[in-house]
Amino acid sequence: MRIIDLRSDTVTKPTPAMRKAMMEAEVGDDVFGEDPTVNRLQEMAADMMGKEAALFVTSGTQGNLVSILAHCQRGDEAIVGDLSHTYHYEQGGMAQVGGVHPRVLPNAVDGTLDLEQVEAAIRPNNVHFPRSRLLILENTHNRCFGAPLPPDYIRQAADVAHRHGLKLHIDGARIFNAAIALGVDVKDLVAPADSVTFCLSKGLSAPVGSVVCGTKEFIEEARRARKVLGGGMRQAGVIAAAGIVALTEMVDRLAEDHANARRLADGLAQIPGIEIRTDFVHTNIVYFDVVNGMSAAEVTERARAAGVLMLPTGPQRIRAVTHYGIEEGDIEEALDVIRHVMTSA
Ligand SMILES: *Cc1c(COP(=O)(O)O)cnc(C)c1O
Repeated sequence: MRIIDLRSDTVTKPTPAMRKAMMEAEVGDDVFGEDPTVNRLQEMAADMMGKEAALFVTSGTQGNLVSILAHCQRGDEAIVGDLSHTYHYEQGGMAQVGGVHPRVLPNAVDGTLDLEQVEAAIRPNNVHFPRSRLLILENTHNRCFGAPLPPDYIRQAADVAHRHGLKLHIDGARIFNAAIALGVDVKDLVAPADSVTFCLSKGLSAPVGSVVCGTKEFIEEARRARKVLGGGMRQAGVIAAAGIVALTEMVDRLAEDHANARRLADGLAQIPGIEIRTDFVHTNIVYFDVVNGMSAAEVTERARAAGVLMLPTGPQRIRAVTHYGIEEGDIEEALDVIRHVMTSA
């Protein structure tokens, strides 16, 4: 049975071109800064993001944490959304490892934070308070239907942060999805930010790795933080080589994933017992609710038995993500399976 795995875009496997590049990669000791392939990936990433410098890290989680550690001292505060990956899915690393206090504000359904609330949350200089140091935004916003945050909003958020001496970090795990969905250059999405992390290992299909970008000075701090977290890798060019292929060959095709997510969402909307806000679907992430009395876990369990894998993310809510390797025909097949599961209860 062919498995259609819609749990996450992290299940993507390296392309044949990546395997070849990995095999042929020129390598050196990256802790000495001597891996030419890592250096090339970092230069390429910095260039694409319009930043001075970049750092190859093991994961998006590590990228966000080294960024927070580079921007903040112990006792500082970072403003984050209550549905953000940084707050939800990273073990509270900022507090656990960095002694950084999260100030949590509600995410709107489109992934934004209300900028009046952000401004009001910034602490005055007072011995009772932690020091507000960092604002973190997520683009696309994973838990908010994969929403892409537009350049105007990012600019306004950066203005608020900078006016009060805070830095802006963008968790751009899927920043290229945002750029493609909005039809803008990725540079325009991150220009106002002091740092950005993006993942090579999601829709871009590389096996391992993320990249952090920012000023030279910031990247030096991030490099120190990466080392203490055990992220100083040696002949990392073997994996960076796949990242270079990801950036050269895998960005534009993300539009196909968005089209497939749209197909999936429109098809789900036709199935009795499913509620879905198709107007929220702009990138490769689809959420829908099961309202026929079955639980999300029951539906995903039955769909799994028929070869379609999805992720229950709440009692009634299911997530399905499109990615490299999922074709139009797979979407039709997945819809058939889900329709059958929903109507044969
Ligand atoms: C996946 C993800 C991360 C973390 O990436 P890992 O490589 O899995 O650690 C961070 N932020 C967002 C929004 C993500 O979706």
